Amino acid sequence: TDYKPLDEISVWTPTAGGSQPTDYKRNEKLDQKISLYNGDITKLEIDAIVNAANNTLLGGGGVDGAIHRAAGPMLKKECASLNGCKTGEAKITCGYRLPAKYVIHTVGPIAQGGVGEEEKNALRSCYRNSLETATENGARSVAFPCISTGIYGYPSERAVHEALKTVRDYLDAHHDKLDRVIFCVFLPKDQKLYEENLPLYFPAA
Ligand code: ADP
Repeated sequence: TDYKPLDEISVWTPTAGGSQPTDYKRNEKLDQKISLYNGDITKLEIDAIVNAANNTLLGGGGVDGAIHRAAGPMLKKECASLNGCKTGEAKITCGYRLPAKYVIHTVGPIAQGGVGEEEKNALRSCYRNSLETATENGARSVAFPCISTGIYGYPSERAVHEALKTVRDYLDAHHDKLDRVIFCVFLPKDQKLYEENLPLYFPAA
Protein backbone atom coordinates (compact mmCIF):
# COMPACT_ATOMS: atom_id res chain seq x y z
CA THR A 1 0.00 0.00 0.00
CA ASP A 2 1.15 3.55 -0.71
CA TYR A 3 -0.98 5.06 2.03
CA LYS A 4 0.60 7.56 4.34
CA PRO A 5 -0.29 6.85 7.98
CA LEU A 6 -0.36 9.77 10.39
CA ASP A 7 2.86 8.74 12.15
CA GLU A 8 4.74 8.91 8.84
CA ILE A 9 3.62 12.45 8.07
CA SER A 10 6.37 14.58 9.50
CA VAL A 11 5.68 17.47 11.82
CA TRP A 12 6.63 20.86 10.44
CA THR A 13 9.67 22.31 12.19
CA PRO A 14 9.52 26.04 12.80
CA THR A 15 12.32 28.00 11.24
CA ALA A 16 13.18 31.64 11.61
CA GLY A 17 12.16 33.82 8.71
CA GLY A 18 9.11 35.05 6.94
CA SER A 19 8.64 38.15 4.94
CA GLN A 20 6.57 40.33 7.25
CA PRO A 21 5.98 40.69 10.98
CA THR A 22 2.91 39.19 12.64
CA ASP A 23 1.62 39.17 16.18
CA TYR A 24 1.91 35.44 16.63
CA LYS A 25 4.15 34.11 19.38
CA ARG A 26 5.93 30.79 19.46
CA ASN A 27 3.81 28.02 20.93
CA GLU A 28 5.67 24.73 21.06
CA LYS A 29 2.52 22.72 21.63
CA LEU A 30 1.07 24.02 18.38
CA ASP A 31 4.27 23.33 16.44
CA GLN A 32 3.78 19.63 17.19
CA LYS A 33 0.38 19.76 15.57
CA ILE A 34 1.26 21.17 12.16
CA SER A 35 2.43 19.31 9.07
CA LEU A 36 3.14 20.32 5.51
CA TYR A 37 2.54 17.38 3.18
CA ASN A 38 3.20 17.43 -0.53
CA GLY A 39 1.10 14.95 -2.45
CA ASP A 40 -2.28 13.39 -3.03
CA ILE A 41 -4.72 14.02 -0.18
CA THR A 42 -6.62 10.80 -0.96
CA LYS A 43 -3.62 8.77 0.25
CA LEU A 44 -3.69 10.03 3.83
CA GLU A 45 -4.63 7.52 6.51
CA ILE A 46 -5.94 10.02 9.04
CA ASP A 47 -9.25 10.88 10.68
CA ALA A 48 -10.51 13.44 8.17
CA ILE A 49 -9.56 14.94 4.83
CA VAL A 50 -11.21 18.15 3.65
CA ASN A 51 -12.71 18.30 0.17
CA ALA A 52 -12.85 21.55 -1.81
CA ALA A 53 -16.33 20.75 -3.11
CA ASN A 54 -18.99 22.77 -4.94
CA ASN A 55 -22.47 23.77 -3.76
CA THR A 56 -24.11 20.62 -5.13
CA LEU A 57 -21.71 18.25 -3.31
CA LEU A 58 -22.19 15.91 -6.26
CA GLY A 59 -18.58 15.88 -7.37
CA GLY A 60 -16.52 17.94 -9.78
CA GLY A 61 -12.97 18.33 -11.04
CA GLY A 62 -9.69 18.86 -9.22
CA VAL A 63 -9.35 17.51 -5.70
CA ASP A 64 -13.11 16.89 -5.55
CA GLY A 65 -12.92 14.50 -8.50
CA ALA A 66 -9.87 12.75 -7.04
CA ILE A 67 -11.64 12.23 -3.70
CA HIS A 68 -14.80 10.85 -5.31
CA ARG A 69 -12.81 8.50 -7.55
CA ALA A 70 -10.81 7.16 -4.64
CA ALA A 71 -13.76 6.89 -2.24
CA GLY A 72 -16.03 5.06 -4.69
CA PRO A 73 -19.72 5.53 -5.57
CA MET A 74 -21.04 5.28 -2.01
CA LEU A 75 -19.59 8.71 -1.30
CA LYS A 76 -21.69 10.33 -4.00
CA LYS A 77 -24.73 8.53 -2.66
CA GLU A 78 -24.23 9.94 0.84
CA CYS A 79 -23.43 13.40 -0.59
CA ALA A 80 -26.67 13.35 -2.60
CA SER A 81 -28.63 13.02 0.65
CA LEU A 82 -27.13 16.19 2.16
CA ASN A 83 -29.02 18.86 0.18
CA GLY A 84 -25.88 20.59 -0.98
CA CYS A 85 -23.69 22.95 1.01
CA LYS A 86 -23.51 26.73 1.17
CA THR A 87 -20.30 28.57 0.39
CA GLY A 88 -18.15 28.75 3.52
CA GLU A 89 -19.99 25.93 5.28
CA ALA A 90 -18.94 22.32 5.80
CA LYS A 91 -20.63 18.90 5.87
CA ILE A 92 -19.16 15.55 6.90
CA THR A 93 -19.48 12.09 5.33
CA CYS A 94 -17.80 8.72 5.71
CA GLY A 95 -14.60 8.10 3.77
CA TYR A 96 -15.74 4.78 2.24
CA ARG A 97 -12.80 3.33 0.25
CA LEU A 98 -10.47 6.12 1.34
CA PRO A 99 -7.97 5.40 4.09
CA ALA A 100 -9.35 8.49 5.86
CA LYS A 101 -12.29 7.86 8.19
CA TYR A 102 -14.21 10.98 7.17
CA VAL A 103 -14.45 13.50 4.36
CA ILE A 104 -15.37 17.04 5.35
CA HIS A 105 -16.84 18.78 2.32
CA THR A 106 -16.51 22.54 2.28
CA VAL A 107 -17.30 24.99 -0.49
CA GLY A 108 -14.81 27.75 -1.12
CA PRO A 109 -15.64 31.11 -2.68
CA ILE A 110 -15.41 31.56 -6.44
CA ALA A 111 -12.85 34.33 -6.84
CA GLN A 112 -12.70 34.75 -10.58
CA GLY A 113 -14.34 38.16 -10.23
CA GLY A 114 -11.65 39.25 -7.78
CA VAL A 115 -11.20 38.95 -4.03
CA GLY A 116 -13.18 41.24 -1.73
CA GLU A 117 -14.19 40.98 1.93
CA GLU A 118 -16.93 38.52 1.07
CA GLU A 119 -14.58 36.05 -0.60
CA LYS A 120 -11.97 36.45 2.13
CA ASN A 121 -14.49 35.82 4.89
CA ALA A 122 -15.94 32.83 3.04
CA LEU A 123 -12.50 31.28 2.68
CA ARG A 124 -11.81 31.77 6.40
CA SER A 125 -15.20 30.22 7.18
CA CYS A 126 -14.26 27.14 5.15
CA TYR A 127 -11.22 26.49 7.34
CA ARG A 128 -12.98 27.33 10.60
CA ASN A 129 -16.17 25.39 9.88
CA SER A 130 -14.17 22.39 8.67
CA LEU A 131 -12.18 22.31 11.91
CA GLU A 132 -15.37 22.72 13.96
CA THR A 133 -17.05 19.90 12.06
CA ALA A 134 -13.99 17.72 12.61
CA THR A 135 -13.85 18.28 16.35
CA GLU A 136 -17.62 17.90 16.76
CA ASN A 137 -17.23 14.44 15.24
CA GLY A 138 -14.18 13.46 17.24
CA ALA A 139 -11.75 13.70 14.33
CA ARG A 140 -8.34 14.64 15.76
CA SER A 141 -6.27 14.71 12.55
CA VAL A 142 -7.39 16.82 9.60
CA ALA A 143 -5.80 17.54 6.21
CA PHE A 144 -6.67 20.55 4.05
CA PRO A 145 -6.11 21.01 0.33
CA CYS A 146 -5.52 24.57 -0.93
CA ILE A 147 -9.23 25.45 -1.02
CA SER A 148 -10.48 27.71 -3.86
CA THR A 149 -7.02 28.13 -5.41
CA GLY A 150 -7.62 25.80 -8.36
CA ILE A 151 -10.70 26.04 -10.56
CA TYR A 152 -12.22 28.68 -8.24
CA GLY A 153 -9.37 31.08 -8.96
CA TYR A 154 -8.51 32.47 -5.51
CA PRO A 155 -4.93 33.82 -5.69
CA SER A 156 -2.70 31.29 -3.92
CA GLU A 157 -0.49 33.88 -2.25
CA ARG A 158 -3.52 35.44 -0.59
CA ALA A 159 -5.25 32.16 0.24
CA VAL A 160 -2.24 30.85 2.15
CA HIS A 161 -2.52 33.70 4.67
CA GLU A 162 -6.22 33.09 5.28
CA ALA A 163 -5.58 29.35 5.70
CA LEU A 164 -2.69 29.76 8.13
CA LYS A 165 -4.28 32.56 10.13
CA THR A 166 -7.59 30.75 10.58
CA VAL A 167 -5.95 27.48 11.60
CA ARG A 168 -3.60 29.23 14.03
CA ASP A 169 -6.51 31.11 15.64
CA TYR A 170 -8.58 27.95 15.91
CA LEU A 171 -5.71 26.00 17.48
CA ASP A 172 -5.01 28.81 19.94
CA ALA A 173 -8.56 28.42 21.20
CA HIS A 174 -9.03 24.65 20.85
CA HIS A 175 -5.63 22.94 20.69
CA ASP A 176 -6.77 20.19 23.07
CA LYS A 177 -9.32 18.98 20.50
CA LEU A 178 -6.88 18.29 17.67
CA ASP A 179 -3.68 16.26 17.35
CA ARG A 180 -2.66 17.33 13.86
CA VAL A 181 -3.59 19.74 11.10
CA ILE A 182 -1.95 18.89 7.79
CA PHE A 183 -1.63 21.39 4.96
CA CYS A 184 -1.68 19.22 1.85
CA VAL A 185 -0.04 21.01 -1.06
CA PHE A 186 -0.16 19.60 -4.56
CA LEU A 187 1.68 22.16 -6.66
CA PRO A 188 5.32 23.28 -6.27
CA LYS A 189 4.23 26.94 -6.02
CA ASP A 190 1.99 26.11 -3.05
CA GLN A 191 4.74 24.12 -1.34
CA LYS A 192 6.95 27.20 -1.66
CA LEU A 193 4.23 29.56 -0.41
CA TYR A 194 3.56 27.43 2.66
CA GLU A 195 7.26 27.05 3.45
CA GLU A 196 7.63 30.83 3.25
CA ASN A 197 4.55 31.68 5.28
CA LEU A 198 4.33 28.97 7.95
CA PRO A 199 7.02 30.80 9.98
CA LEU A 200 4.79 33.88 10.18
CA TYR A 201 1.93 32.06 11.85
CA PHE A 202 3.90 29.32 13.66
CA PRO A 203 7.12 31.19 14.37
CA ALA A 204 10.37 29.96 15.83
CA ALA A 205 11.27 31.48 19.19
P1 ADP B 1 -11.33 24.76 -6.09
O1 ADP B 1 -12.48 24.50 -7.01
O2 ADP B 1 -11.78 24.98 -4.67
O3 ADP B 1 -10.42 25.83 -6.60
P2 ADP B 1 -9.54 22.62 -7.03
O4 ADP B 1 -9.73 21.16 -6.79
O5 ADP B 1 -9.65 23.11 -8.43
O6 ADP B 1 -10.54 23.36 -6.02
O7 ADP B 1 -8.11 23.05 -6.49
C1 ADP B 1 -7.78 23.15 -5.13
C2 ADP B 1 -6.35 22.68 -4.91
O8 ADP B 1 -6.33 21.25 -4.84
C3 ADP B 1 -5.38 23.04 -6.02
O9 ADP B 1 -4.18 23.52 -5.41
C4 ADP B 1 -5.10 21.72 -6.70
O10 ADP B 1 -3.80 21.68 -7.26
C5 ADP B 1 -5.20 20.77 -5.53
N1 ADP B 1 -5.39 19.34 -5.83
C6 ADP B 1 -5.84 18.74 -6.96
N2 ADP B 1 -5.87 17.40 -6.82
C7 ADP B 1 -5.41 17.13 -5.55
C8 ADP B 1 -5.18 15.94 -4.79
N3 ADP B 1 -5.44 14.73 -5.29
N4 ADP B 1 -4.70 16.07 -3.52
C9 ADP B 1 -4.45 17.29 -3.00
N5 ADP B 1 -4.64 18.44 -3.65
C10 ADP B 1 -5.11 18.37 -4.92
